[in-house]
Amino acid sequence: MKKLLLVQASGTIRKGLSVTQSKYPSLALGIVANLTPENWTIEVADSITGNYTDHDADLVAITAYTPTINDAYSISEHYMSKGIPVVLGGIHATLVPDEAKRYCNVLAIGEAESVWPDIISDFNSKKLKRIYTGSNTCGIVSPVRNIFSPLYNLTSIQASRGCPMNCDFCSVTMLSGKRYRTRPVEEIITDWKNIDQQFVWFSDDNLFGFSETDREWAGKLFSEIIKQKLQKNWMCFAGVRSLMDEKTIALAAESGCKLIYIGFETEDPSILKGVNKNPVQTKHYGEVIRLLHKHGIAVLAGIMLGFDYDTPETIEKRIDFVLDSDIDSYFLTVTTPMPGTRMFDRFNRSGKLRYTNFPTDWSHYDWTQVTFKPEKMTILQAEEAIFKAYQKAYAYKQIKDKYKQTAKNLNSSDTAILNYLSNMDFRDTFLKQY
Ligand code: SF4
Repeated sequence: MKKLLLVQASGTIRKGLSVTQSKYPSLALGIVANLTPENWTIEVADSITGNYTDHDADLVAITAYTPTINDAYSISEHYMSKGIPVVLGGIHATLVPDEAKRYCNVLAIGEAESVWPDIISDFNSKKLKRIYTGSNTCGIVSPVRNIFSPLYNLTSIQASRGCPMNCDFCSVTMLSGKRYRTRPVEEIITDWKNIDQQFVWFSDDNLFGFSETDREWAGKLFSEIIKQKLQKNWMCFAGVRSLMDEKTIALAAESGCKLIYIGFETEDPSILKGVNKNPVQTKHYGEVIRLLHKHGIAVLAGIMLGFDYDTPETIEKRIDFVLDSDIDSYFLTVTTPMPGTRMFDRFNRSGKLRYTNFPTDWSHYDWTQVTFKPEKMTILQAEEAIFKAYQKAYAYKQIKDKYKQTAKNLNSSDTAILNYLSNMDFRDTFLKQY
């Protein structure tokens, strides 16, 4: 029997943002496992197993995000030096293929479903190619879940892929395509039934989609969970406009939705417009928060600090907006030009990037560091303004006040605790960087 080692690389240097410790098993590796013939044994190496290099295998497949890509390259070189072929895939390898191909035997570009069956078949016939270029238009398969450590008490599920919006700072459209692709509800339910954990994240970039048809599909999914009495506590990402539909929100709540992460990014429409994100959404923030709270769902706001046209004053104003609003928890990332985005290309061309010694410098691109020179601040001014923002937003008193606000608005101490723990976790992540 042949053996496949599946690796999700994680960092060794800093704590924060899934860099050193993943909270969820990798869906991509679970999908690769599903696409692997049954006569293979499969072993997983990730931040929970903690052992990346002491395995024997016939074939190794590695996935990694940009901030941890150097760890992936080291692991890959370790196995290649032992004569074991290594396949490298995932977001970074797909978006920076010319670099990634130097650190593996086989580069897998695109979604696992579109390349893995050919890779396995060519491995079996000893005809592995250097590069497999797949697509982002294929169907989505369920991950195998029992290959991961039972120590994961959270897990994720994916019901859709793709986003037509193409914001300047985001690689989702480039990676997953413009078309919003939904899985059949019955398949998602089968996948859902295989989940042991009681807390589940939908990893979709927008579970509520972009059209009436998408909303109907989401409503059908939530109704099926209710009908089959499969409720769990679940969380998801969604866009502002897609949430202005009370019927679907009510179904989401009844099926177990406890929290929705909304990419507000900023309260300032002109800044949103500057990064090609719909500025009109700012008008609806209050309405969407009220609607979700009415149905017992908390709001985790994705907020970005250090946009190209930010100043210390606009950053302070953004923090005041977050604290004065009814937002329950807040994830305050530093604007980061990730590879594959228009923002990266623009800043690279204009010489604004602070770190360009790649691949070593990818470790800075972890959404907690200032990686480019903004137009209206020096890098030092940006760092000071962001640190001040973190100190204010994640002060213990502030987090406690938000806890009380959520408990009152949602009339639920459980939901208040969930958001309190999120804010404490974010405090740990962001303040420890300084
Ligand atoms: S930020 Fe959200 S809306 Fe914009 S491209 Fe990314 S996933 Fe789509």
